[in-house]
Amino acid sequence: MYSERLDKRAFDELRHMEAEVGVVPNADGSARFKIGNTEAIAAVYGPQEVKPKHFERADRGIIICKYDMIPFSVSDRIKPGIDRRDMEISGVITNALSRAVMLEEFPKSMIAINVYITQADAGTRCASLTAASMACADAGLPMRDLVASVAGGKIGDSIVLDLTKDEEDLHEEGATDVPMGFLPSKNEVVLLQLDGKISQEDLKKILAIGKVGADKIYQMEKEALKRRFLDENKS
Ligand code: UDP
Repeated sequence: MYSERLDKRAFDELRHMEAEVGVVPNADGSARFKIGNTEAIAAVYGPQEVKPKHFERADRGIIICKYDMIPFSVSDRIKPGIDRRDMEISGVITNALSRAVMLEEFPKSMIAINVYITQADAGTRCASLTAASMACADAGLPMRDLVASVAGGKIGDSIVLDLTKDEEDLHEEGATDVPMGFLPSKNEVVLLQLDGKISQEDLKKILAIGKVGADKIYQMEKEALKRRFLDENKS
């Protein structure tokens, strides 16, 4: 039984969010997205020449994304450098964003994205994807839609949205984690992973609360981009 969440949120409630674009002056586009105690900063460079050259595609551009948790992002200092988890997360972010950015408009080019997790309390791949998507829009890249990403899951008998690390670790309750990414206005899913076991019926419920949560994140993303645009017009 998981009848009350550890942080007292409703089961379908997101953590407090902050979204901001244009946070890295030296990048072509950038964004910061914070949800609870998880924070991601993304910087986008390009379109630029493809390096290494053998990754080049004649008919479209490519995205190369690097995800990294900085050593002080969690209480046990993380060893600097890229591990298997970082590579896997970089891959899923790249795949999801490649569905959003109109890469066919940039043949033989590369868009390089760096995402850093400054604070981690679960859901870092989702926060990274949201931040990277805002950063691509901030860079002025043509996109089919923004990506809004959040994890859902099941703890005990309860379907929950936006799990914290403490919730993920409630193994005796049987926590299941499902990171999701949506193109909200297209109603498309661009990221879906599963850590744990789930029935088809519960997965549908998780996708449903995930979409409602993603729609709220989408609003935050659009508001952050609008604020940036209005500020630019003022100065
Ligand atoms: N985590 C950690 N040390 C690590 C990797 C992860 O403390 O080396 C924590 C961190 O809070 C992270 C969480 O474990 O957010 C869950 O990690 P997971 O691999 O499930 O990915 P995430 O939920 O962050 O997308």
